[in-house]
Amino acid sequence: MDKKILIGIGSNIGNGIKNCMAAIKKISSDKRVNLKVISSFYTTSPVSEIKQDDFINCAVLVSWEGTPHELLQFLTGIENSMGRTREIKDGPRIIDLDILLFGDRVLDEPSLTIPHKELHKRKFSLMPCLEIDPNFIIPTYKRPLNDFLPEIGDDQVVTKLEGIVFLEESEE
Ligand code: ADP
Ligand code: MG
Repeated sequence: MDKKILIGIGSNIGNGIKNCMAAIKKISSDKRVNLKVISSFYTTSPVSEIKQDDFINCAVLVSWEGTPHELLQFLTGIENSMGRTREIKDGPRIIDLDILLFGDRVLDEPSLTIPHKELHKRKFSLMPCLEIDPNFIIPTYKRPLNDFLPEIGDDQVVTKLEGIVFLEESEE
């Protein structure tokens, strides 16, 4: 069976939905990827102390023919191609692509931690993943995603976007 691989996507510079969609398109156009599910989009208040605009967040479920390190390298390439810079840690970003889960793989390296360290602590990561499948197990805890939402405080404001999405102003 395919590994359940969840990628968290976020943007808070420019048109966040458009940026997330562009990233999803780039992810899915690689032949090593099979894009299976796209979550709803959410608006999210930044968790960082740095003052910045709200984020758009979503998550995708994919399969990946390759190693976790190869996936990180692929996603970093997409971030760079979209103009991601890293001057300020936890600062605003045009696109952020994080590997949240890679099946039952566990890695604890500075450059790649899987499951993502913050997956179960941050509503903006967890909520889109819960929508995809609340029963996915976080292997480091051996508990399903569903367990963790009640443990997160109410200070993180994450709102699901309802309705249709306009990527361009309509031309009348
Ligand atoms: P943020 O932690 O806000 O996502 P960055 O996107 O700049 O910040 O990522 C910082 C570093 O985190 C990257 O250089 C990457 O090597 C590392 N990293 C560790 N684990 C992961 C993961 N699961 N997914 C993506 N990046 C990761
Ligand atoms: Mg990141």
